[in-house]
Amino acid sequence: MINISPGYTAAHSNALDLPIAVAILIASQQLSASILENTEFIGELSLFGDTRPVQGIFSCARACQLSDQRLYLPAQNMPDIQLLVSGHFVPLNHLAAISAEPDTADLHRQASMLGSGRVDQRSPMPETFPAIIGQHQAKRALEIAAAGNHHLIMVGPPGAGKTMLARALTDLLPDLEAEHAMEVAAVYSASAIKRSDTMRPPFRDPHHSVTGPALVGGGTYPQPGEVALAHRGVLFMDELPHFNPATLNLLREPMESGEAVIARANYRVAFPSRFQLVAAMNPCPAGRVCREGKCRCSLQQVQRYQGRVPGPLIDRIDLYVSVHQPGEAALLGLEPVPDRPQFATSLDPIRQRIHAARGRQLHRQGLFNSELRADSLPDIIAASGVSSALIKEAVARLELSVRGYHKIWRVSRTIADLADQEHPGEAAFLEALSYRSLDWEAALQG
Ligand SMILES: [Zn+2]
Repeated sequence: MINISPGYTAAHSNALDLPIAVAILIASQQLSASILENTEFIGELSLFGDTRPVQGIFSCARACQLSDQRLYLPAQNMPDIQLLVSGHFVPLNHLAAISAEPDTADLHRQASMLGSGRVDQRSPMPETFPAIIGQHQAKRALEIAAAGNHHLIMVGPPGAGKTMLARALTDLLPDLEAEHAMEVAAVYSASAIKRSDTMRPPFRDPHHSVTGPALVGGGTYPQPGEVALAHRGVLFMDELPHFNPATLNLLREPMESGEAVIARANYRVAFPSRFQLVAAMNPCPAGRVCREGKCRCSLQQVQRYQGRVPGPLIDRIDLYVSVHQPGEAALLGLEPVPDRPQFATSLDPIRQRIHAARGRQLHRQGLFNSELRADSLPDIIAASGVSSALIKEAVARLELSVRGYHKIWRVSRTIADLADQEHPGEAAFLEALSYRSLDWEAALQG
């Protein structure tokens, strides 16, 4: 008889096949019990004894690595743990291949193979950012978003390139740090989704028909949702008003806490969900029927459409950007690039600025500007030298909420960091303000 305890833990996967088989082999004296010393087993077995991969292996393997335990696991799971270069991992293809003294030389070869494989596997990313024609304002907003981990929404007509811009954000974000890459790998290991480039920030773009559990996680057995799969990366939500408003409201909790907590009758889990939201929407409900600047929708239609996006969600977004269809001059490459340093066209100087700005934030305060607590803002405002008359006028004209006002200062701080300024001055404040008003009229009437 085999007793699996504790009984309240749902043993829903077949990951216990291998440990059970090993226990039987030892009990029937076909295998020495010495194999159990500092050793764990995990894996599914076919009826013929072949191993099969299991889900969620990364967290188990990481735990074994940290506690210096040896782990026997299905060979097919080895790619899932490629970030764990230094562990004692014994890949198995078949139950019969178990031996108490695995060939250590073989192990070293495995480890070094995986170690170098990790570097080799980083495929060169196709770069979207340099391919975007015009859209200097939107590109600049992406740079700020990447530098301070800010959420962003783009409003513009179909065909303005909103999807391409959203993808371009991952060109600007630096590779994940080792610790963050492990967090992301653990989330993906708990899902059935494979990720090849483990050091790049993930990019997720759920369709607007996505259900609540698919977005924030859930299911009979806990599965990470899109917000967790986008952890340390980008969550792109196109056609925002087409999402179910109740589903959109589920975003608020992970956006505030960086965690998606799922509570069901039989379990309660929290998946890390520190993602950057990039939302996009058309200014009016007619989509392609209304050309830019020639909207024929009634005011009520437009208001009903825009009203589908919950206000509290919009308020939690740091940067608002209007995007337009590129004009003929831009398409022909004749549009002049605005003669200001922040409108660089090539990727490298922008990446360098972003890298430096992120470093400054972490060095100064240990977190990104988007995560600055409200009680740390008064010092930033006082040091800025922006006149209180200007601040009052901005608050009144944009009808800013307290949250919106704070967002402006977090974004100002990032703009100053991009320019290597000690404090955000009036220029940074005014630029941040320009990303706080959604100019619906301009988007509709051109
Ligand atoms: Zn319209």
